[in-house]
Amino acid sequence: MKPYAQLTPEERTGEYARLQAEFGELKARGLSLNMARGKPGKQQLDLVSDIFGLMQKPEDYVSDGIDVRNYGEMTGLPAARRLFADILDCRPEQVFVGGNASLQLMYDTICKAYTHGLLHSPRPWRLEETVKWLCPAPGYDRHFKITETFGFELITIPMTDSGPDMDAVEAAVRDPAVKGIWCVPKYSNPDGVIYSEETVRRFAALNPAAPDFLIMWDNAYCVHEFEGDYVPFPDILSLCAQAGHPDMVFEFASTSKITLPGAGVSCFACSEANMAHMEKLLTPQVISFDKVNQRRHVLYLRDKAHTLELMKKHAAIMAPKFRCVADALDREIAPLGIASWRRPKGGYFVSFNALPGTAKRTLALCGEAGVAMTGAGATFPYGRDPQDSNIRIAPSLPPVEELEQAMEVFCVCVRLAALEKLGV
Ligand code: PLP
Repeated sequence: MKPYAQLTPEERTGEYARLQAEFGELKARGLSLNMARGKPGKQQLDLVSDIFGLMQKPEDYVSDGIDVRNYGEMTGLPAARRLFADILDCRPEQVFVGGNASLQLMYDTICKAYTHGLLHSPRPWRLEETVKWLCPAPGYDRHFKITETFGFELITIPMTDSGPDMDAVEAAVRDPAVKGIWCVPKYSNPDGVIYSEETVRRFAALNPAAPDFLIMWDNAYCVHEFEGDYVPFPDILSLCAQAGHPDMVFEFASTSKITLPGAGVSCFACSEANMAHMEKLLTPQVISFDKVNQRRHVLYLRDKAHTLELMKKHAAIMAPKFRCVADALDREIAPLGIASWRRPKGGYFVSFNALPGTAKRTLALCGEAGVAMTGAGATFPYGRDPQDSNIRIAPSLPPVEELEQAMEVFCVCVRLAALEKLGV
Protein backbone atom coordinates (compact mmCIF):
# COMPACT_ATOMS: atom_id res chain seq x y z
CA MET A 1 0.00 0.00 0.00
CA LYS A 2 1.32 3.45 -1.01
CA PRO A 3 1.27 6.48 1.29
CA TYR A 4 -2.11 8.16 0.89
CA ALA A 5 -0.54 11.43 -0.19
CA GLN A 6 0.87 9.66 -3.24
CA LEU A 7 -2.45 8.16 -4.41
CA THR A 8 -4.04 9.56 -7.57
CA PRO A 9 -7.61 10.87 -7.16
CA GLU A 10 -8.93 7.68 -8.80
CA GLU A 11 -6.89 5.44 -6.50
CA ARG A 12 -8.17 7.41 -3.51
CA THR A 13 -11.78 7.00 -4.60
CA GLY A 14 -11.24 3.29 -5.12
CA GLU A 15 -9.62 2.88 -1.72
CA TYR A 16 -12.46 4.84 -0.08
CA ALA A 17 -15.13 2.66 -1.70
CA ARG A 18 -13.31 -0.50 -0.61
CA LEU A 19 -12.99 0.77 2.98
CA GLN A 20 -16.63 1.83 3.08
CA ALA A 21 -17.65 -1.70 2.15
CA GLU A 22 -15.37 -3.05 4.89
CA PHE A 23 -16.82 -0.53 7.34
CA GLY A 24 -20.33 -1.68 6.46
CA GLU A 25 -19.37 -5.26 7.26
CA LEU A 26 -17.82 -4.24 10.57
CA LYS A 27 -20.96 -2.29 11.53
CA ALA A 28 -23.09 -5.31 10.71
CA ARG A 29 -21.24 -7.28 13.38
CA GLY A 30 -23.09 -5.20 16.01
CA LEU A 31 -19.99 -4.81 18.17
CA SER A 32 -19.96 -3.22 21.61
CA LEU A 33 -16.31 -2.70 22.56
CA ASN A 34 -14.67 -0.24 24.89
CA MET A 35 -11.23 1.34 24.62
CA ALA A 36 -12.26 4.53 26.39
CA ARG A 37 -10.73 4.47 29.87
CA GLY A 38 -7.60 3.12 31.49
CA LYS A 39 -9.32 0.41 33.47
CA PRO A 40 -7.61 -2.86 34.39
CA GLY A 41 -9.19 -5.89 32.74
CA LYS A 42 -11.03 -8.65 34.60
CA GLN A 43 -7.96 -10.91 34.53
CA GLN A 44 -6.02 -8.26 36.44
CA LEU A 45 -8.81 -7.82 38.98
CA ASP A 46 -8.97 -11.59 39.46
CA LEU A 47 -5.19 -11.68 39.86
CA VAL A 48 -5.31 -9.54 43.01
CA SER A 49 -8.63 -10.48 44.54
CA ASP A 50 -7.00 -12.83 47.06
CA ILE A 51 -6.21 -9.58 48.91
CA PHE A 52 -9.61 -10.01 50.57
CA GLY A 53 -8.65 -13.26 52.27
CA LEU A 54 -5.81 -11.79 54.30
CA MET A 55 -7.60 -10.46 57.36
CA GLN A 56 -9.38 -13.17 59.31
CA LYS A 57 -8.24 -13.15 62.94
CA PRO A 58 -8.54 -10.23 65.40
CA GLU A 59 -4.72 -9.82 65.51
CA ASP A 60 -4.68 -9.24 61.74
CA TYR A 61 -6.26 -5.87 62.51
CA VAL A 62 -3.34 -4.68 64.64
CA SER A 63 -0.40 -2.92 63.05
CA ASP A 64 2.47 -1.43 65.10
CA GLY A 65 0.18 -1.80 68.13
CA ILE A 66 -2.57 0.24 66.41
CA ASP A 67 -6.05 -1.27 66.07
CA VAL A 68 -6.80 -0.32 62.48
CA ARG A 69 -10.55 -0.72 62.98
CA ASN A 70 -10.72 2.35 65.18
CA TYR A 71 -10.38 6.11 64.67
CA GLY A 72 -6.94 7.67 64.58
CA GLU A 73 -3.73 8.10 62.59
CA MET A 74 -5.15 10.69 60.21
CA THR A 75 -1.92 10.88 58.22
CA GLY A 76 -2.13 7.15 57.57
CA LEU A 77 -1.13 3.89 59.15
CA PRO A 78 2.64 4.08 59.83
CA ALA A 79 3.21 0.79 57.97
CA ALA A 80 1.31 2.14 54.95
CA ARG A 81 3.38 5.34 55.03
CA ARG A 82 6.52 3.18 55.07
CA LEU A 83 5.23 1.13 52.12
CA PHE A 84 4.56 4.17 49.92
CA ALA A 85 7.84 5.79 51.02
CA ASP A 86 9.62 2.64 49.83
CA ILE A 87 7.77 2.70 46.49
CA LEU A 88 8.32 6.43 45.90
CA ASP A 89 11.84 6.50 47.33
CA CYS A 90 11.09 9.16 49.92
CA ARG A 91 10.76 9.18 53.75
CA PRO A 92 7.68 7.89 55.65
CA GLU A 93 7.25 11.26 57.43
CA GLN A 94 6.73 12.81 53.99
CA VAL A 95 3.85 10.47 53.12
CA PHE A 96 0.14 10.95 53.84
CA VAL A 97 -1.96 7.86 53.11
CA GLY A 98 -5.57 8.60 52.25
CA GLY A 99 -8.59 6.83 50.84
CA ASN A 100 -9.26 4.92 47.67
CA ALA A 101 -8.43 7.58 45.05
CA SER A 102 -5.43 9.82 44.48
CA LEU A 103 -7.62 12.02 42.31
CA GLN A 104 -9.58 12.94 45.42
CA LEU A 105 -6.35 13.97 47.19
CA MET A 106 -5.34 16.03 44.14
CA TYR A 107 -8.71 17.76 44.01
CA ASP A 108 -8.54 18.39 47.75
CA THR A 109 -5.03 19.89 47.56
CA ILE A 110 -6.16 22.35 44.89
CA CYS A 111 -9.36 22.99 46.83
CA LYS A 112 -7.39 23.79 49.99
CA ALA A 113 -5.16 26.19 48.05
CA TYR A 114 -8.38 27.82 46.82
CA THR A 115 -10.23 28.06 50.12
CA HIS A 116 -7.37 28.50 52.62
CA GLY A 117 -4.11 28.91 50.69
CA LEU A 118 -0.97 26.81 50.63
CA LEU A 119 1.90 27.18 53.08
CA HIS A 120 3.45 30.14 51.21
CA SER A 121 0.26 31.69 49.80
CA PRO A 122 -0.09 35.41 50.51
CA ARG A 123 -3.87 34.77 50.38
CA PRO A 124 -6.26 31.95 49.42
CA TRP A 125 -6.42 31.54 45.66
CA ARG A 126 -10.15 32.38 45.66
CA LEU A 127 -9.09 35.96 46.44
CA GLU A 128 -6.69 36.18 43.50
CA GLU A 129 -7.96 38.10 40.50
CA THR A 130 -6.69 35.40 38.12
CA VAL A 131 -5.15 31.99 38.69
CA LYS A 132 -3.40 30.48 35.69
CA TRP A 133 -2.44 26.84 35.46
CA LEU A 134 -0.02 25.00 33.18
CA CYS A 135 -1.30 21.89 31.43
CA PRO A 136 1.20 19.79 29.50
CA ALA A 137 -0.81 18.39 26.60
CA PRO A 138 -1.68 15.82 25.48
CA GLY A 139 -2.45 15.15 29.13
CA TYR A 140 -4.95 13.62 31.54
CA ASP A 141 -8.48 14.97 31.08
CA ARG A 142 -9.41 14.61 34.75
CA HIS A 143 -6.47 16.77 35.82
CA PHE A 144 -7.52 19.51 33.45
CA LYS A 145 -11.12 19.28 34.66
CA ILE A 146 -10.10 19.82 38.30
CA THR A 147 -8.35 23.10 37.56
CA GLU A 148 -11.08 24.12 35.11
CA THR A 149 -13.71 23.54 37.83
CA PHE A 150 -12.01 26.12 40.04
CA GLY A 151 -12.11 28.67 37.23
CA PHE A 152 -8.37 28.73 36.61
CA GLU A 153 -7.15 29.82 33.21
CA LEU A 154 -5.61 26.73 31.61
CA ILE A 155 -2.44 27.23 29.56
CA THR A 156 -1.31 24.47 27.22
CA ILE A 157 2.36 23.44 27.43
CA PRO A 158 3.52 21.20 24.56
CA MET A 159 4.70 17.71 25.44
CA THR A 160 8.00 16.47 23.99
CA ASP A 161 9.73 13.08 24.02
CA SER A 162 11.43 14.04 27.29
CA GLY A 163 8.42 15.55 29.10
CA PRO A 164 6.84 19.01 29.04
CA ASP A 165 8.64 21.67 26.98
CA MET A 166 10.75 23.11 29.82
CA ASP A 167 11.62 26.31 27.95
CA ALA A 168 7.89 27.03 27.80
CA VAL A 169 7.45 26.10 31.49
CA GLU A 170 10.36 28.29 32.63
CA ALA A 171 9.02 31.22 30.61
CA ALA A 172 5.45 30.76 31.88
CA VAL A 173 6.35 30.68 35.60
CA ARG A 174 7.70 34.25 35.38
CA ASP A 175 4.04 35.32 35.52
CA PRO A 176 2.99 35.56 39.22
CA ALA A 177 -0.57 34.56 38.27
CA VAL A 178 0.73 31.13 37.19
CA LYS A 179 0.21 29.03 40.31
CA GLY A 180 1.04 25.52 39.22
CA ILE A 181 1.38 22.70 36.75
CA TRP A 182 0.09 19.16 36.24
CA CYS A 183 2.74 16.48 35.69
CA VAL A 184 2.59 12.73 35.11
CA PRO A 185 6.34 12.12 35.22
CA LYS A 186 6.52 8.42 34.46
CA TYR A 187 4.58 6.86 31.57
CA SER A 188 2.63 10.09 31.15
CA ASN A 189 -1.05 9.85 30.34
CA PRO A 190 -1.50 9.48 27.38
CA ASP A 191 1.94 9.74 25.71
CA GLY A 192 3.67 7.12 27.87
CA VAL A 193 6.72 9.40 28.10
CA ILE A 194 9.18 9.16 30.99
CA TYR A 195 10.44 12.62 31.91
CA SER A 196 14.20 12.79 31.32
CA GLU A 197 16.58 13.44 34.21
CA GLU A 198 17.21 16.89 32.82
CA THR A 199 13.49 17.66 32.75
CA VAL A 200 13.10 16.52 36.36
CA ARG A 201 16.14 18.57 37.40
CA ARG A 202 14.77 21.66 35.61
CA PHE A 203 11.45 21.20 37.42
CA ALA A 204 13.22 21.12 40.78
CA ALA A 205 15.25 24.20 39.82
CA LEU A 206 12.21 26.27 38.74
CA ASN A 207 12.14 29.76 40.14
CA PRO A 208 8.50 30.80 39.82
CA ALA A 209 7.30 34.35 40.49
CA ALA A 210 4.38 32.99 42.58
CA PRO A 211 5.68 32.16 46.10
CA ASP A 212 3.09 29.37 46.34
CA PHE A 213 3.67 27.81 42.91
CA LEU A 214 2.67 24.14 43.07
CA ILE A 215 3.98 21.21 41.05
CA MET A 216 1.29 18.51 41.04
CA TRP A 217 3.54 15.48 40.46
CA ASP A 218 1.11 12.65 39.77
CA ASN A 219 3.25 9.54 39.81
CA ALA A 220 0.26 7.33 38.98
CA TYR A 221 2.39 4.92 36.91
CA CYS A 222 5.49 4.77 39.13
CA VAL A 223 5.84 0.95 39.03
CA HIS A 224 3.77 0.23 35.93
CA GLU A 225 6.21 -1.20 33.38
CA PHE A 226 4.60 -3.76 31.05
CA GLU A 227 7.76 -4.30 29.02
CA GLY A 228 11.25 -4.65 30.44
CA ASP A 229 12.47 -4.16 33.98
CA TYR A 230 11.47 -1.54 36.51
CA VAL A 231 12.87 1.85 35.54
CA PRO A 232 14.22 3.73 38.59
CA PHE A 233 13.09 7.34 38.77
CA PRO A 234 14.47 10.35 40.67
CA ASP A 235 12.76 11.46 43.88
CA ILE A 236 11.36 14.91 43.12
CA LEU A 237 10.96 15.77 46.82
CA SER A 238 14.66 15.58 47.60
CA LEU A 239 15.60 17.30 44.32
CA CYS A 240 13.30 20.23 45.12
CA ALA A 241 14.74 20.39 48.65
CA GLN A 242 18.31 20.38 47.29
CA ALA A 243 17.37 23.19 44.89
CA GLY A 244 16.06 25.24 47.83
CA HIS A 245 12.32 24.76 47.11
CA PRO A 246 11.26 21.93 49.43
CA ASP A 247 7.63 23.06 49.53
CA MET A 248 7.05 23.51 45.79
CA VAL A 249 5.87 19.97 45.05
CA PHE A 250 3.14 17.51 46.07
CA GLU A 251 3.59 14.00 44.71
CA PHE A 252 0.64 11.60 44.33
CA ALA A 253 0.30 7.86 43.80
CA SER A 254 -2.15 5.07 44.42
CA THR A 255 -2.62 1.34 44.17
CA SER A 256 -5.53 1.76 41.75
CA LYS A 257 -3.56 -0.06 39.05
CA ILE A 258 -1.56 -2.24 41.41
CA THR A 259 -4.48 -3.79 43.30
CA LEU A 260 -8.00 -2.49 42.66
CA PRO A 261 -9.16 0.83 41.25
CA GLY A 262 -11.93 2.01 43.49
CA ALA A 263 -10.86 -0.21 46.38
CA GLY A 264 -7.17 0.65 46.58
CA VAL A 265 -5.17 3.09 48.68
CA SER A 266 -3.84 6.50 47.67
CA CYS A 267 -1.21 8.85 49.03
CA PHE A 268 0.46 12.19 48.68
CA ALA A 269 4.04 12.95 49.58
CA CYS A 270 5.39 16.40 50.41
CA SER A 271 7.83 18.28 52.63
CA GLU A 272 7.30 17.98 56.37
CA ALA A 273 6.38 21.69 56.53
CA ASN A 274 3.68 21.09 53.90
CA MET A 275 2.57 18.01 55.84
CA ALA A 276 2.06 20.08 59.00
CA HIS A 277 0.06 22.66 57.00
CA MET A 278 -2.11 19.99 55.41
CA GLU A 279 -2.66 18.22 58.73
CA LYS A 280 -3.97 21.46 60.19
CA LEU A 281 -6.37 21.91 57.25
CA LEU A 282 -7.46 18.26 57.15
CA THR A 283 -8.17 17.90 60.88
CA PRO A 284 -11.65 19.48 60.72
CA GLN A 285 -12.42 17.41 57.62
CA VAL A 286 -11.65 13.82 58.58
CA ILE A 287 -10.77 11.81 61.69
CA SER A 288 -8.99 9.12 59.73
CA PHE A 289 -9.17 7.32 56.41
CA ASP A 290 -9.82 3.58 55.90
CA LYS A 291 -6.93 2.00 57.81
CA VAL A 292 -8.40 -1.48 57.41
CA ASN A 293 -7.77 -1.20 53.70
CA GLN A 294 -4.37 0.35 54.34
CA ARG A 295 -3.47 -2.62 56.55
CA ARG A 296 -4.80 -5.06 53.93
CA HIS A 297 -2.54 -3.44 51.35
CA VAL A 298 0.49 -3.56 53.64
CA LEU A 299 -0.07 -7.29 54.22
CA TYR A 300 -0.59 -7.89 50.52
CA LEU A 301 2.09 -5.72 48.92
CA ARG A 302 4.65 -5.88 51.79
CA ASP A 303 7.33 -3.68 50.21
CA LYS A 304 8.53 -2.29 46.89
CA ALA A 305 10.36 -5.48 45.83
CA HIS A 306 7.26 -7.59 46.42
CA THR A 307 5.06 -4.99 44.70
CA LEU A 308 7.32 -5.12 41.64
CA GLU A 309 6.85 -8.91 41.52
CA LEU A 310 3.10 -8.36 41.36
CA MET A 311 3.58 -5.74 38.64
CA LYS A 312 5.36 -8.37 36.53
CA LYS A 313 2.15 -10.43 36.67
CA HIS A 314 0.13 -7.41 35.55
CA ALA A 315 2.69 -6.89 32.78
CA ALA A 316 2.18 -10.42 31.50
CA ILE A 317 -1.52 -9.58 31.03
CA MET A 318 -1.00 -6.07 29.67
CA ALA A 319 1.89 -6.68 27.24
CA PRO A 320 -0.08 -8.77 24.70
CA LYS A 321 -2.76 -6.05 24.61
CA PHE A 322 -0.25 -3.32 23.81
CA ARG A 323 1.39 -5.61 21.25
CA CYS A 324 -1.99 -6.11 19.62
CA VAL A 325 -2.43 -2.33 19.28
CA ALA A 326 1.13 -1.80 17.99
CA ASP A 327 0.85 -4.66 15.47
CA ALA A 328 -2.45 -3.38 14.08
CA LEU A 329 -1.09 0.16 13.70
CA ASP A 330 2.16 -1.07 12.13
CA ARG A 331 0.30 -3.23 9.66
CA GLU A 332 -2.68 -1.04 8.76
CA ILE A 333 -1.57 2.55 9.28
CA ALA A 334 2.23 2.89 9.23
CA PRO A 335 2.65 2.48 5.43
CA LEU A 336 0.06 5.18 4.72
CA GLY A 337 1.91 8.16 6.22
CA ILE A 338 -1.25 9.55 7.82
CA ALA A 339 -0.51 9.24 11.55
CA SER A 340 2.15 8.94 14.24
CA TRP A 341 2.18 7.27 17.65
CA ARG A 342 4.53 6.39 20.48
CA ARG A 343 5.50 2.94 21.71
CA PRO A 344 5.34 3.13 25.50
CA LYS A 345 6.84 0.45 27.75
CA GLY A 346 4.58 1.19 30.67
CA GLY A 347 1.45 2.99 31.77
CA TYR A 348 -2.01 2.45 30.36
CA PHE A 349 -2.24 4.26 27.02
CA VAL A 350 -1.12 4.66 23.45
CA SER A 351 -1.23 8.24 22.21
CA PHE A 352 -2.18 8.36 18.54
CA ASN A 353 -1.88 11.44 16.34
CA ALA A 354 -4.20 11.15 13.36
CA LEU A 355 -4.03 13.36 10.30
CA PRO A 356 -4.83 16.87 11.65
CA GLY A 357 -8.53 17.62 11.39
CA THR A 358 -9.63 13.97 11.54
CA ALA A 359 -9.71 12.88 15.21
CA LYS A 360 -13.37 13.79 15.81
CA ARG A 361 -14.49 12.20 12.55
CA THR A 362 -12.46 9.05 13.27
CA LEU A 363 -14.07 8.62 16.67
CA ALA A 364 -17.55 9.34 15.35
CA LEU A 365 -17.04 6.52 12.84
CA CYS A 366 -15.74 4.23 15.62
CA GLY A 367 -18.88 5.01 17.60
CA GLU A 368 -21.07 4.07 14.62
CA ALA A 369 -19.35 0.68 14.53
CA GLY A 370 -19.77 0.10 18.28
CA VAL A 371 -16.26 0.96 19.49
CA ALA A 372 -16.16 3.47 22.37
CA MET A 373 -13.01 5.58 22.70
CA THR A 374 -12.01 8.56 24.86
CA GLY A 375 -13.60 11.64 23.25
CA ALA A 376 -11.52 13.57 20.73
CA GLY A 377 -10.00 16.63 22.35
CA ALA A 378 -10.15 15.14 25.86
CA THR A 379 -6.37 15.14 26.16
CA PHE A 380 -6.26 18.96 25.85
CA PRO A 381 -7.38 21.75 28.22
CA TYR A 382 -11.09 22.56 27.88
CA GLY A 383 -11.45 19.40 25.76
CA ARG A 384 -10.23 21.28 22.69
CA ASP A 385 -7.41 19.86 20.60
CA PRO A 386 -6.41 22.75 18.32
CA GLN A 387 -5.18 20.25 15.72
CA ASP A 388 -8.11 17.81 16.12
CA SER A 389 -5.51 15.06 15.91
CA ASN A 390 -4.77 13.33 19.23
CA ILE A 391 -6.62 10.14 20.14
CA ARG A 392 -6.02 8.21 23.35
CA ILE A 393 -6.15 4.46 22.94
CA ALA A 394 -6.76 2.55 26.18
CA PRO A 395 -6.17 -1.16 25.49
CA SER A 396 -6.26 -2.51 29.07
CA LEU A 397 -9.93 -3.38 29.52
CA PRO A 398 -10.96 -5.64 26.61
CA PRO A 399 -9.59 -9.18 26.27
CA VAL A 400 -7.11 -9.54 23.35
CA GLU A 401 -9.72 -11.14 21.03
CA GLU A 402 -12.03 -8.13 21.47
CA LEU A 403 -9.14 -5.72 21.19
CA GLU A 404 -8.21 -7.19 17.82
CA GLN A 405 -11.70 -6.44 16.55
CA ALA A 406 -11.71 -2.97 18.09
CA MET A 407 -8.38 -2.17 16.41
CA GLU A 408 -9.68 -3.47 13.10
CA VAL A 409 -12.54 -0.99 13.37
CA PHE A 410 -10.25 1.79 14.56
CA CYS A 411 -7.81 1.41 11.68
CA VAL A 412 -10.58 1.43 9.06
CA CYS A 413 -12.04 4.58 10.64
CA VAL A 414 -8.64 6.33 10.72
CA ARG A 415 -8.23 5.56 7.03
CA LEU A 416 -11.73 6.64 6.02
CA ALA A 417 -11.38 9.93 7.90
CA ALA A 418 -7.96 10.57 6.37
CA LEU A 419 -9.24 9.95 2.84
CA GLU A 420 -12.20 12.27 3.42
CA LYS A 421 -9.76 14.96 4.59
CA LEU A 422 -7.44 14.45 1.64
CA GLY A 423 -10.42 14.64 -0.70
CA VAL A 424 -12.41 11.82 -2.24
N1 PLP B 1 -3.65 9.93 37.62
C1 PLP B 1 -3.51 9.52 36.36
C2 PLP B 1 -2.41 10.08 35.51
C3 PLP B 1 -4.38 8.56 35.83
O1 PLP B 1 -4.21 8.16 34.56
C4 PLP B 1 -5.40 8.04 36.64
C5 PLP B 1 -6.36 7.05 36.11
O2 PLP B 1 -6.43 6.79 34.94
C6 PLP B 1 -5.52 8.51 37.95
C7 PLP B 1 -4.63 9.45 38.41
C8 PLP B 1 -6.59 8.03 38.87
O3 PLP B 1 -6.01 7.57 40.04
P1 PLP B 1 -6.86 7.17 41.31
O4 PLP B 1 -7.63 5.97 41.00
O5 PLP B 1 -5.82 6.96 42.36
O6 PLP B 1 -7.75 8.35 41.62
